[in-house]
Amino acid sequence: MNAEDLKSIVKQANQIPDAHIANIGAHVVNRISTVLGGLYNGTGIELSVGWLADANVRARAYERVPGVHKIEISYGLATWLYRQAHILTAIIKTDHLLEKYSKAFIGSPSGQTRLLPEGTTAEQCRDLMFDTTLEWVFLHELTHHAQSHLNIRSAHSSASNLEIVDEAHVIGEPPLTGEEAKISHATEIAADHEAVIHLLPYRAFGNKGKQLPQAEVFMFVCGLVSLFHKFYGSSSAPPEPIPVGTHPHPAVRFALARSAIMGVLSNPDFVSASAHWAIEKDKTFSMIDEAYTVGALYSLELDNRASSEKAMAFIMSTNIKERPNTKAYLRTIFSQLKELTPEIERQYVFTLLKAKLPVITQEWEDLVKDASPADASSLSV
Ligand SMILES: [Zn+2]
Repeated sequence: MNAEDLKSIVKQANQIPDAHIANIGAHVVNRISTVLGGLYNGTGIELSVGWLADANVRARAYERVPGVHKIEISYGLATWLYRQAHILTAIIKTDHLLEKYSKAFIGSPSGQTRLLPEGTTAEQCRDLMFDTTLEWVFLHELTHHAQSHLNIRSAHSSASNLEIVDEAHVIGEPPLTGEEAKISHATEIAADHEAVIHLLPYRAFGNKGKQLPQAEVFMFVCGLVSLFHKFYGSSSAPPEPIPVGTHPHPAVRFALARSAIMGVLSNPDFVSASAHWAIEKDKTFSMIDEAYTVGALYSLELDNRASSEKAMAFIMSTNIKERPNTKAYLRTIFSQLKELTPEIERQYVFTLLKAKLPVITQEWEDLVKDASPADASSLSV
């Protein structure tokens, strides 16, 4: 693929009318909020979902009127996501990423052939990426409400600006630090987690034979990574050793979201009923890894205009097992999550379910236990 081909794909994406995308987005959000809105039955709380007339990529959760859980998603998020999905799937239909970044795909299950999931067209993949990612955004906001994150954040902070959970990186405001940043990051990770736990069964339930095809997981991962980068701003810097700002680094967010995905795909009941292809764990893990690499490379190089060297360095540097900084960061986050867990469980809004929080397995504990304080200062890419 040359620069001209790429330009024409982008042009094509930009010609898709905003109103067309807004309609599809409204349909997707309507469907999921109708199905999962039932979780509010018996809580005495009302769920209110609306669209923000904002061209920026935004999503938020707040409760200005007591007893009304408000979720808002911007039209800008829908139009950006749809075009992103259109361009990304058109690109991965070619060998563009494989040619340029062959090093990043060594050992990938697709080998050196095509990245697009088998048996699917680019249009189907575009729709899967759009639908699953938008549904996840809704579920992430729903979890902020269900787990009472607004209460929890304000109970631990004197700042008055915590009455709303806003997903996008706000430029120009001083970043959160210390306790407030720790709580913000931990609750974001908790919302990421529960959103994944609900999304995959929701997808399977809505499909023929209650099946969750592999392509849905692949495209969801591509969309999720693109979204994490978009919300984080255009930075291609590696993760910090301590929580700073409102949201965790995209690579860290993804590593933990992947654990949630693998958790669902390791549940024997779910696998035998809906995802038989996931029975080989190693293959599933590599497939998710490959989708992450595709999504991250694309977001960094094409969406954020990072050089291909920078994008490649980023991918290579996000192997969290080899990064002391990330280990130190995770140790802080894990202890924060453990501290918040009883509070979240107690304040969980839905009566039919229990809060779903990240499980800090022994493997995670072992991974972060050797993060010495000295590691935290040894920043290296
Ligand atoms: Zn959030």
